[in-house]
Amino acid sequence: MKNIYTAANKKEGIKRLAELILQSDYAIVLTGAGMDTESNIPDFRGKSELWRNIDARVVADINTIKKNYRLFHQFYKERLSVMGNVKPHAGHYVLAELEEKGLIKGIATQNISGLHIKAGNKKVYELHGDLRKIYCNNCGKSATAQDLIDFKSCSFCHEYALRPNVVFFGEALPPDVWNTALNEIKKSDLLIVIGTSLEVAPVNQLPYLTSGKTVLINAEETAYKFDLIILGKAKEILVDCLAVIQKQGLQP
Ligand SMILES: [Zn+2]
Repeated sequence: MKNIYTAANKKEGIKRLAELILQSDYAIVLTGAGMDTESNIPDFRGKSELWRNIDARVVADINTIKKNYRLFHQFYKERLSVMGNVKPHAGHYVLAELEEKGLIKGIATQNISGLHIKAGNKKVYELHGDLRKIYCNNCGKSATAQDLIDFKSCSFCHEYALRPNVVFFGEALPPDVWNTALNEIKKSDLLIVIGTSLEVAPVNQLPYLTSGKTVLINAEETAYKFDLIILGKAKEILVDCLAVIQKQGLQP
């Protein structure tokens, strides 16, 4: 049975997606970088002189915060400055509307942009954290994004150790968020994977946990098998899918 849809036969694929969503009782969504692409999140590497020769993996490492706080600070100051202006796109709002209608039960995301929450989704499991949430790496006291941008020390312990609440290299995923996401996906009868090629462990294990149907919406195919694959841009596909759902006379 053919299950891969591209630009040429996208309509048919979107119709199948709408049917799967309407038929499901417990749909969960898993998103990655491709979900946020159309919100114009800049590719940070290579944009400025300073970072051209520095691997982001070196800066986004738990050891750098202790060994070279100035370098760490400069990197996240710039990231926070550019990410502060990023807004959800129409596709994010579709997912918020689907949750409000009870058609999806939650979103697990690898993105640190906070855009699902900004768009209005309530059940969001941020597997890699949220860039805009700031706390002290030394004592745990919370602070604001502006505090970090302004190179302030911690208001409680006075160390220069403010950091975003994101998972660095050398750190584990937040266990409570991770476990909740695992359980939600195990419960699901439909898992919709959007904008990720599932190359990163341990997130790439997640699609195996559902016994339900699986869908991939992505720019390219992945090594994993899905019941339905729609290749294209997440925003367009989600907007078109909501239109089909609405046309089918959904009961509110
Ligand atoms: Zn502190």
